[in-house]
Amino acid sequence: MTKILITLLFSSVILLAQHTVALQVLGSGGPEMGDKRASSAYIVWIDGKSKVLIDFGGGASLRFEEVNAKIADLDVILLTHLHVDHTADIPALLKAAFFTRASGNLLVYGPEKNAYMPNTKVFIKRLFDEDKGVWKYLGDHLNGDARLQIKAFTIEQSHQNKVIYARNGIRITAVSVHHGIIPAIAYRIDIGNKSITFSGDMNGDYHTLEKLAKGTDILVAHNAVPKGSTGVAAQLHMTPTIIGQIAKKSHPKKLILSHRMLRTLGKEKETKREIRKYYKGNMQFANDRSYYKIR
Ligand SMILES: [Zn+2]
Repeated sequence: MTKILITLLFSSVILLAQHTVALQVLGSGGPEMGDKRASSAYIVWIDGKSKVLIDFGGGASLRFEEVNAKIADLDVILLTHLHVDHTADIPALLKAAFFTRASGNLLVYGPEKNAYMPNTKVFIKRLFDEDKGVWKYLGDHLNGDARLQIKAFTIEQSHQNKVIYARNGIRITAVSVHHGIIPAIAYRIDIGNKSITFSGDMNGDYHTLEKLAKGTDILVAHNAVPKGSTGVAAQLHMTPTIIGQIAKKSHPKKLILSHRMLRTLGKEKETKREIRKYYKGNMQFANDRSYYKIR
C-alpha cells in the first residue's frame, strides 16, 4: 500500500514538473508572393504562453495576432539568418509592443556578419538605434527608456553545438549551418524532456544539423527546393534527399516540412517518396497556423 502511494506521489510530481510544449507555424512560406503563405516564422508555446519566436518574416505579425500570441509573453527571438523572408516583420512587432503591457528584456539572437550581412547586434542597431537607425523613433527600445528593451546577441560561427540560453527551464542550443554565402544557424529548444529543432534555411553541407536534432521530438526542415535541384538552389537549400538523410540520422519523432515555395508546392508526393527512402517516421507538410503539441 505504502509502495503504491509513493509511486503515485512520485509520478504526480513528475507530471507537475512537465511542461506543455507546442510548435505553431506562423509562416510556412518563403520569400515569394503568390504562395498565399506568410514567410518563415514559428512560435514555441510553453504552458500556453508564446515564449519563443523563431524568425519573423513578412506576414508573420498578422499570423501572430490570429493565433492570439502575446508580445508580453515573449522571452526570446531566434533568427536563423537575416534574409528578408526571416526578419521583415520585426519592426512591426516592436511597434506593436508599445500598445501592450510588454516590459523587461526581449532577447534577440542571430548569426555573425560577413561581406553580405551585418552581425545580429548591428542589424538591430541599424533598424532602431536612436541616432542612426532607420526607425530611430523606436530608439527608446534600445537605450533603456521604454518599458520593453531589445537586447541583441551575435552567435559566433561554430560547427559544435553551443548552449546560448538556459533560463526558466528553457535551454536553447545553436549550431552553424550552410546557407550559400549567408551566415545561418539552426536551433534546438529543450524544455524538460521535450524538444523542437529548427533547421532554418540550409543545404546540409556542414553536417551539423544531424547532431543537433538527435532524438528531438519535432524537426522543422525547410523544403524550399524539389528533388534533383542543382546549382544555386542546392547551394542554399536541402533537397528532399538531404532532408531524408538528416532525418534518418537524427531520428525526430515528427518531421515538419515548411518554407514551402512555388517550386515545391504541388510536389508533396514526390518529396515524401524521396524522404521516405531514408526516414520512416511521422512526416507532415506545414501550413500557416499549423499547431503541433508534443505528447
Ligand atoms: Zn528563407
